[in-house]
Amino acid sequence: MYDYLIVGSGLFGSIFAYEANKRGKKCLVIDKRAHIGGNIYTVQIEGIHVHQYGAHIFHTSNKTVWEYVNQFAEFNRYTNSPVARYKSELYNMPFNMNTFNKMWGVITPSEAKLKIQQQINEAGIKEPRNLEEQALSLVGRDIYQKLIKGYTEKQWGRRAAELPSFIIKRLPVRFTYDNNYFDDKYQGIPVGGYTQIIEKMLRGIEVRLSTDFFKQRNELTALADKIVFTGMLDEYYDYCYGELEYRSLRFETEVLACENYQGNAVVNYTEYEVPYTRIIEHKHFELGCQKGDCQSGSVKAGTTVITKEYPAAWQRGNEPYYPMNDDRNNELFAKYKAIADTEEKVIFGGRLGMYKYFDMHNVVAEALKLAEKEMG
Ligand code: FAD
Ligand code: UDP
Repeated sequence: MYDYLIVGSGLFGSIFAYEANKRGKKCLVIDKRAHIGGNIYTVQIEGIHVHQYGAHIFHTSNKTVWEYVNQFAEFNRYTNSPVARYKSELYNMPFNMNTFNKMWGVITPSEAKLKIQQQINEAGIKEPRNLEEQALSLVGRDIYQKLIKGYTEKQWGRRAAELPSFIIKRLPVRFTYDNNYFDDKYQGIPVGGYTQIIEKMLRGIEVRLSTDFFKQRNELTALADKIVFTGMLDEYYDYCYGELEYRSLRFETEVLACENYQGNAVVNYTEYEVPYTRIIEHKHFELGCQKGDCQSGSVKAGTTVITKEYPAAWQRGNEPYYPMNDDRNNELFAKYKAIADTEEKVIFGGRLGMYKYFDMHNVVAEALKLAEKEMG
């Protein structure tokens, strides 16, 4: 018998397992994938730490969360500064004075604000009701057309006017020459990749990989007093109220005989017609490689690894990478949550269990909150 059966060895499940184990609880962690770590899993290819499920940059303004993850790895001082490519034009992200200068030739913040205000007035939006209106109100028509509309519509498989506005508010808009993608106080990538963090958390805990909870539901449930479930909430209830919507992705990773493919870790492709949203070149996440010179350390000279990220429709059996947090799905989620809240022996956590567009720092904070509530 175990105190906890933890379904999912992603960041949420692993933190909960670590905290429970530290308090003397006996845990069994299972994952349907053949590896630990969920979507933060990294693997070494040609000496480069490859983010198997897309670029993962840790960022937070929460000191407790930052110190917590720093127990498990040293973080480098990588600052995410993606560039966005629209046809043959290249723009700095997030939306800042470099972007405005390139788009309109404006030099000062007041010139940029004036330009945006003119475009907002032309659009005539008072209260933004969706992503399109929100984007137009924040950065005007030109930036919306070139850098947001195509990317957003392929990423989500829906028209921007049918998406919730909070999605675009994830990105800063600044009137300074600052290409840092995040406003947070702390940011970095773990030296040596993310998988080691999960390995350390799960040290001394029984883990069963390639084990799908739903294939052995009764046997597994009987093994523990309580379950911490970090898979899909609607699947747990056999979709009894209908399916929540998710967005899936397909990753295509290539090893190239090239020292420096794109000169930056993340390049966004904002035209709708290009089928992928971004290409990441993993070696640039590692500080020694940021000058394009990766010949030191274990990285093989003249080699790089890139991953193209293609958005994809979700259907049962695909990986549900993003929850679609619009009103309709949030209402459906609330119905599932109402039954979930009556469970005495099952707790739902993480991006899928809580159906929230969580970044890693949110997941750390939520998992610690749950551990505290459950075990003191
Ligand atoms: P997951 O990592 O999804 O883990 C859930 C685990 O449960 C999985 O391993 C899954 O296999 C397992 N599981 C599910 N169902 C079952 C079942 N039935 N039986 C057994 N096991 C099951 N966050 C950032 O902070 N910065 C970033 O730059 C960033 N970039 C991202 C890029 C992409 C493309 C994506 C998709 C996410 C990104 N995130 C980023 C978010 C980050 O990945 C999540 O916040 C975090 O990984 C969620 O952890 P989790 O444990 O909740 O979920
Ligand atoms: N976005 C965009 N153009 C870009 C980058 C992002 O329009 O070049 C929009 C898009 O709608 C995306 C959202 O901003 O879904 C949030 O971007 P973020 O980089 O936070 O997405 P994630 O890394 O979670 O996929």
